Amino acid sequence: MNLTKQTHFLDALYSGLAETLASPGTLGLPAWMSLAGKEWPFFNEVTRLAAMIGTKAWTRAAVALSEVSSSALTTRQAEYEQLFVGATHPPIWLYESHYVDGRMLGPTTFALSKLYTACGLEADGAELPDHAALELSFLAYLARQESAAMDAVQIREWGETRKLFIKSHAGVWLPEVGKTLARSNYPAWVAIGLLLTASLTEQKITPQLKTTSPLLPQIKEMDKCILCGFCVQVCPTRALAIHEDRETTSLWLSSPLCVHCNKCMHVCPEKVIEMGEENLPSHLILLCESPRGICPKCGEPTFSQAEIKAVVDKIGNPPWVEYCLKCRTIA
Ligand code: SF4
Ligand code: SF4
Repeated sequence: MNLTKQTHFLDALYSGLAETLASPGTLGLPAWMSLAGKEWPFFNEVTRLAAMIGTKAWTRAAVALSEVSSSALTTRQAEYEQLFVGATHPPIWLYESHYVDGRMLGPTTFALSKLYTACGLEADGAELPDHAALELSFLAYLARQESAAMDAVQIREWGETRKLFIKSHAGVWLPEVGKTLARSNYPAWVAIGLLLTASLTEQKITPQLKTTSPLLPQIKEMDKCILCGFCVQVCPTRALAIHEDRETTSLWLSSPLCVHCNKCMHVCPEKVIEMGEENLPSHLILLCESPRGICPKCGEPTFSQAEIKAVVDKIGNPPWVEYCLKCRTIA
């Protein structure tokens, strides 16, 4: 487990979440929020964190983010206003003091102001120190210091500061905000809510305490896989891929990208995928391989033997089955 990488990913995630929750003001929401979730600047980091940590909360968050469709920025902005501005008062408050002190500008606001100053930081916007965006920016700063630290003592100290800040501030109220967002009707904000909850629940971000590895897809009976590619199509993080060279067609798993969602297992028409512990040191795991057939007309490689067998098993032995796509029409 590479904890430096993990804190680097958390830095990207917290920075991105801070941007989504910052009051849009005259600048508006960040332009990337109009893109599909897979194009958001922290999608890859979320995938890697979900793969490393392997809890249900992280899996749900990564899958929800992968399912966010692109949308006009004005639509996202209108959703923000529905959720955090409201006609008379905000349906969801974004200030810690509202939750902890029962009012705005409570003791928490001033305690946080002092904390940032003690760390040599100055808020550069008009927001109060206990606004969600500022707390998330501070967490990104702590994660950045931790991943840049040069020795074990510094790494431990920054890590402990980050965990203490989650325990005494961000983790006290933002997971509740996350749960409320996750119940909203807006997929982008559902994903943001799930990410807040997953990343700010302290015991869920200490993967070194885990005793078992998260489960990964495996194929024990390779000859039963028909290389149909359905599993590749449903995988939310592109952890699965089909590779073709002149001799073989193969199905590969990139284990650092697998968020353990089981979608591939459920979609497989041949029911050949099982989720199990994988002890291979390699990150790239061969799940299935089949030699390609040779087109009897032009001699070029055609479909894999696995695909040809699947056709023959299902509909007999049609005359075109062994030809490549090009020769099939003139066979
Ligand atoms: S594992 Fe299942 S879904 Fe994936 S290619 Fe093989 S048969 Fe198709
Ligand atoms: S490989 Fe399977 S379990 Fe892993 S993320 Fe893709 S669909 Fe989910």
